[in-house]
Amino acid sequence: MVLHAFRSASNIDTDAQHSVGKAAANIWSPGTRTVLGAVVVLVILVVLAGAVSIPFRFESSSMLYKFGSAKAMLRAGKVLGLIASVLLLMQLLWSARIRTLDRIIGLNNLFRWHGVMGITIVGCALLHPMLVYLPDNTLIIPLTKRYWPELVGLGLLLFILIMVITSTLRTRLRLPYHFWRTAHRVGAVVVVAGLAVHVLNVSDSFGRGLPQASVYWAIGLWMLLYAWMTIHRVRTRLRPHTVTAVEPVGPDAMSLLVRPRSGLAFPYAPGQFAFIRIKSAGVRAEEHPFTIASSPQRPTELEFLIRLCGDWTNTIANVQPGDRIAIDGPYGLFSHLRCSGQAELVMIAGGIGITPMLSMLRYMADTNDERTITLIWSNKTRDHVIRSDECRELELRLPGLRVHHFFTRGADTATTGDRLDHAVLERLLADRSRYASIFICGPEGMMADMTQLLLGLGFSRRRIFTERFGW
Ligand SMILES: Cc1cc2nc3c(=O)[nH]c(=O)nc-3n(C[C@H](O)[C@H](O)[C@H](O)COP(=O)(O)OP(=O)(O)OC[C@H]3O[C@@H](n4cnc5c(N)ncnc54)[C@H](O)[C@@H]3O)c2cc1C
Repeated sequence: MVLHAFRSASNIDTDAQHSVGKAAANIWSPGTRTVLGAVVVLVILVVLAGAVSIPFRFESSSMLYKFGSAKAMLRAGKVLGLIASVLLLMQLLWSARIRTLDRIIGLNNLFRWHGVMGITIVGCALLHPMLVYLPDNTLIIPLTKRYWPELVGLGLLLFILIMVITSTLRTRLRLPYHFWRTAHRVGAVVVVAGLAVHVLNVSDSFGRGLPQASVYWAIGLWMLLYAWMTIHRVRTRLRPHTVTAVEPVGPDAMSLLVRPRSGLAFPYAPGQFAFIRIKSAGVRAEEHPFTIASSPQRPTELEFLIRLCGDWTNTIANVQPGDRIAIDGPYGLFSHLRCSGQAELVMIAGGIGITPMLSMLRYMADTNDERTITLIWSNKTRDHVIRSDECRELELRLPGLRVHHFFTRGADTATTGDRLDHAVLERLLADRSRYASIFICGPEGMMADMTQLLLGLGFSRRRIFTERFGW
């Protein structure tokens, strides 16, 4: 049995004293994030405005003999096509794991935004040919050589449609995550190549001058970003860590302890996550996101607590000490460091959703934080409580911490007396400030229910933060 390195307050690495500032540096202040967020929005709007102005400033020959509503419709169609094109090229920005964007918006939000934009692109791309061809009283593109750029556009539209449908309905279509992701990455290159061919050949507006140069620049920048993503992936693999221990923590969870080969881990804020890829004979070399459950105050070792729930996580017990592991991180904004100094905290976790809370609590214990913290943790049974001994020890080390357990199955359900509903939350949080910052992590439905209950109890939506373990 491997002894857990984080249990005792006495074994904080003295090298770690400097990491308080470094951990905080990973979470930017709300003011900085707001200003930089506004800059990002402004840049997007300027680029969109520039693209949308093309059908007005550089009229194509097809516009010259159209008048009135026919001309307006044709122009609107071209505008929608350009909006779809710009949003399409920007999709890579939201999924490329760019640190600066993660610090401003958060990777989870960026991935969600990527999904919403995919649907918006499909909407614009579907309306684009309709509005372009309706003024000619036809929706049929003749299958002749002359119309090849339009036919490329049609193929592109179908391809994008398939990409969005397979992404939105991935779980219902039972597509394995890694198969879908590889296909999606290859599909992105095909789509951008098709887009360049379509735009540069479908309209004489793009045959010369600024519009043509803009297309070349945009495609060039996209290719640079794609190359940077690939280099980033390779660089991550060249900075390996070593697995030091793998041990069960409950009936369906394992702890993975990892040591950086350079001695000290990268700085991270408590609650942040990373993508891990283990090089081991026993597991597939896939990349998966997991919260870094350890305290940034102990930078010589990182811990990941992994629930065994799928084809990859179920093989984690095959990992051996000494196996190499590449870690890409940290990412995310789900950390108490985003809240003001001594803000009262409420944490609500469902099962393995405890991992970011555990990292925050371990960090607060290591930094002698005295604030009031309420942890509400729901598990299937008492056996599913991960690191229950450490949980009790944290209550001793953190004078402001109160832990409330709930169990949803088996004999343990009776010991807590009730389910986590409105009445129970009202009782547990009766004395808590309505300005408390609230962190919720657990199954999707539970997070939605808790958020509604908390809003009903008078807590502010602005101070409720949730972390989804999937996207
Ligand atoms: C920000 C974040 C933090 C997380 N932290 C933890 C944690 O601390 N502990 C923990 O046990 N789990 C955590 N997860 C969930 C964990 O990543 C998945 O449970 C795991 O990847 C499932 O892999 P699988 O192949 O075993 O399961 P599968 O059954 O193949 O996948 C189940 C679901 O997990 C998601 N998933 C699978 N592979 C990936 C991948 N490579 N990248 C992104 N999503 C994927 C997909 O939505 C998929 O439908 C976290 C997820 C996210 C997004």
